[in-house]
Amino acid sequence: MSGKITERKKVLFIDRDGVIVKETQVDSFEKIEYIPHVFEALREIRRRSDYLFVMVSNQDGVGTPAFPYEDYIGPATRIFETLGGEGIIFDDVNIDFSLPEDNSPMRKPSTGMIDGYRSDEYDMSKSFVIGDRFTDMELARNMNCRGFLLNGPEGEVPKDLEDTIVLRTSSWLDIASYLLSDESMKHRCAEINRNTKETEISLSIDIDGTGEGRIETKIPFFDHMLDQVVRHSRFDAKGEVKGDLDVDFHHTVEDVALALGSAVLTALGDKRGIERYGFEVLMMDDTVATCAIDFSSRPEFIFDVEFTFPYIGSFPTELVRHFFRSFSSAARCNLYLSARKGGDSHHTAEALFKAFARAMRKAVKRIPGDDRVQSTKGVL
Ligand SMILES: [Mg+2]
Repeated sequence: MSGKITERKKVLFIDRDGVIVKETQVDSFEKIEYIPHVFEALREIRRRSDYLFVMVSNQDGVGTPAFPYEDYIGPATRIFETLGGEGIIFDDVNIDFSLPEDNSPMRKPSTGMIDGYRSDEYDMSKSFVIGDRFTDMELARNMNCRGFLLNGPEGEVPKDLEDTIVLRTSSWLDIASYLLSDESMKHRCAEINRNTKETEISLSIDIDGTGEGRIETKIPFFDHMLDQVVRHSRFDAKGEVKGDLDVDFHHTVEDVALALGSAVLTALGDKRGIERYGFEVLMMDDTVATCAIDFSSRPEFIFDVEFTFPYIGSFPTELVRHFFRSFSSAARCNLYLSARKGGDSHHTAEALFKAFARAMRKAVKRIPGDDRVQSTKGVL
């Protein structure tokens, strides 16, 4: 009798639609759109852990006129090839083509596709289902493993699934961070609610986003500038602002900058593994703007800009300066901005906001595999 103890294998049962790709019926190449950070997260989990990757997916009615097999197989193969090219190899693939009304024992949340994993070779107590529906979490419960609910439905978790779900999240980064016990991979986001007599602001940002969402202030030019910040920083942002616009724009611009600055500061946490410094020189028609930023915890602010005109439409150009100064103080960052004199004032402002956003994107970027604080003091 051999005395050798072999460790039981751990498995990640991974759903496809809503988890790897966004669409639920991928029947053309155009419909392949990947969930943000899925490559980064799965590549790191694959590289740094010994979980087996097992796909478990319902593909309703493949082979019927509504979803012909030929329309399914091309995109499905492409998805696996693309993942494989990034080092994300599936050890086993299980796809069920039945329809809900077929009541097939193979179809999730029934366990027919993966019953083979109920053996001593595998450790279900250390295995997980990653899915976007409560039925995926039911599958986890039925397998006696646990589950990550990614981009799942709104609303309360059914009582009988509470013990099964270890994490409800909108980001693959949180799943990777959990599985690898690596805080530095965590999804960086923040929510700020700021209410004063002058403004009411609710703002959420995700600095690992893709540049989606809007902050709406009802000041059209300012909204246009904030759109530039969201797009060019690639932060996701959602903000609703009620300001005392009957007085003027001042409080609204200032308080949005303060809320955005504290949101960025909160999302950065202890700033481990970030680049810290960012810079950009950005040309826009008749102007060139420069921005340098350092998330140093010191709010030094230098603004070397002269606007040609005091107003852009009804928006006072002095508020551009005020926005950046307020941001710098709330985010506790050194911020330098300059622009070529004599340009169209709209261009000057827009170039500054874009340069700021792009510089910030560089500064908050994480350096893969390096979770040190970028300071010889060891703290920022
Ligand atoms: Mg799904």
